[in-house]
Amino acid sequence: MRSVSATPPPRTPAPQTREGPLDPDGRREAEFTRLSRRIVRCTRCPLAQSRTHAVVYRGSLSPRVVFVGEAPGAEEDRQGVPFVGRSGKLLDGAVALLGPALGSYGVLNLLKCRPPRNRFDTRAAAACRPYLDRQLELLRPRVLASLGARALRSLDPDAPPVLRSAGTVRRTRIGWLFPLIHPAAALRSRRLRERWDRDVHTFGDWLRSPSLEML
Ligand code: URA
Repeated sequence: MRSVSATPPPRTPAPQTREGPLDPDGRREAEFTRLSRRIVRCTRCPLAQSRTHAVVYRGSLSPRVVFVGEAPGAEEDRQGVPFVGRSGKLLDGAVALLGPALGSYGVLNLLKCRPPRNRFDTRAAAACRPYLDRQLELLRPRVLASLGARALRSLDPDAPPVLRSAGTVRRTRIGWLFPLIHPAAALRSRRLRERWDRDVHTFGDWLRSPSLEML
């Protein structure tokens, strides 16, 4: 399985599926690498001044599932990799629990740069949006899993509030969406931690259901 963090990956053969190569001449992958380089150098908004690193993506270049978070925190800004702090540990626990049901996966954020004091910046999010759209176009995941209210709203503006949507499947303009609460929220209260655990189990059940492959 090919994977990337902020640094463009070394060249190795393109991923295969049972149907054949996904990206026979590596063009999609090369374009993703070029896009990642553009994001790393981006100066479209003032967050470029305050960031240590732009935070692009981690995971497979042919992901079945992409988790979409909000914005890098302090640790992500330091390392240039999404979800490597406390929230990331919880997300990694969910990934381990989902195991083969999840398959290949990737992780990215709406915002590519850390906003000062971790205050979500909607103007920066608008500047970043074309990057997100192009990332998803190139990665072509089968399922998106939004993490938290902002990611949900951004991917599916018509969705009910996150506590009503989390743990349910949604069909959106851009494909299948499985909303989850944000792992940072799950770290804040026992009630939300129980909710996170329950929704992650439901996600696993859905990912395992044969109907998903037929859809
Ligand atoms: N929270 C997010 O939404 N994204 C990260 O990368 C880290 C914490």
